[in-house]
Amino acid sequence: MISSRWLGASARAFLPIVGPTISRHLADLEVLETPLPDLNWPRPNERVWILAPHPDDESLGCGGLLAKCAAQNVAVKIVFLTGGDGTRTTQLALKLSPRFGGPYDLLSIARERQTEAHNAAKALGLGDNTIEFLGYPDGGMEEIWRRGFSTRAPYVSPFTAKMRVPYENARSPRAPFCRQSVLADLKASLKEFRPTLVLTTPAFDTHRDHSAAFHFLERALQGTQGHPDFWTFLIHCGVWPVPNGLHPELRLAPPARLWRKHAWHALELSDAERELKRRALSQHATQMASTPRYLNAFVRQNELFCPALEITS
Ligand SMILES: [Zn+2]
Repeated sequence: MISSRWLGASARAFLPIVGPTISRHLADLEVLETPLPDLNWPRPNERVWILAPHPDDESLGCGGLLAKCAAQNVAVKIVFLTGGDGTRTTQLALKLSPRFGGPYDLLSIARERQTEAHNAAKALGLGDNTIEFLGYPDGGMEEIWRRGFSTRAPYVSPFTAKMRVPYENARSPRAPFCRQSVLADLKASLKEFRPTLVLTTPAFDTHRDHSAAFHFLERALQGTQGHPDFWTFLIHCGVWPVPNGLHPELRLAPPARLWRKHAWHALELSDAERELKRRALSQHATQMASTPRYLNAFVRQNELFCPALEITS
């Protein structure tokens, strides 16, 4: 027979371990049960401009929104900030993949990721002219934002050893890796497209390229004509979204530790839109090879967005 003294001692020993886990799950449940304000996107005459730090972020955060835009013939531009040419998990997974045998080449992976981005857009019903690549260095955007660099002394990618945009199909091939080049490309794209709604990852996204994307876009929007609405979509935040894997029957709730800090809104997706999003994500084969359960965890009943002004105020 187990004595009550033993039970008491055990409870005291395990409480510091179990207690935070229980309270975290209770917090997750509270977030799931709290309704969020609905978004009615796209609005009439909408023009949607998205800055995706890497190829796949557009499908993860906005795949459902993009499917709605395609169905309603809404004008869309997806701008990829980096070539996705420095992701460590991709490197590791592809090293082990027979598809990419032979000498290991990050630039050819980036070109593969460009093809995947085109295929994902097509899966969502969008045309090829929807996409634009800037080709800046994966993993280097935070340092470029913070330190600036210059046309004469650009940032050098530790992954590709390049210091200029190495892709001929980019907006500015051979542009030096510096803050000035990035801002010039973003401003030019915004000026050409004249969006009513711009979206990127938030400053509180824990991937440094993602938080830098926010800062670059916030700066590029200063002085831009038309004053588009500026919203964000979260991609990286610890183990979020939970649970991992494909669960299209579940709702996507904000991370418990962040949900009171920001003005979260939900965009509801139909069964058909969820399926289109799943198909778009499956086109990102290089990423599916390394983190399939993480990618599929974004296929939910809704997508989440926060207004950028809430974040910066
Ligand atoms: Zn990313």
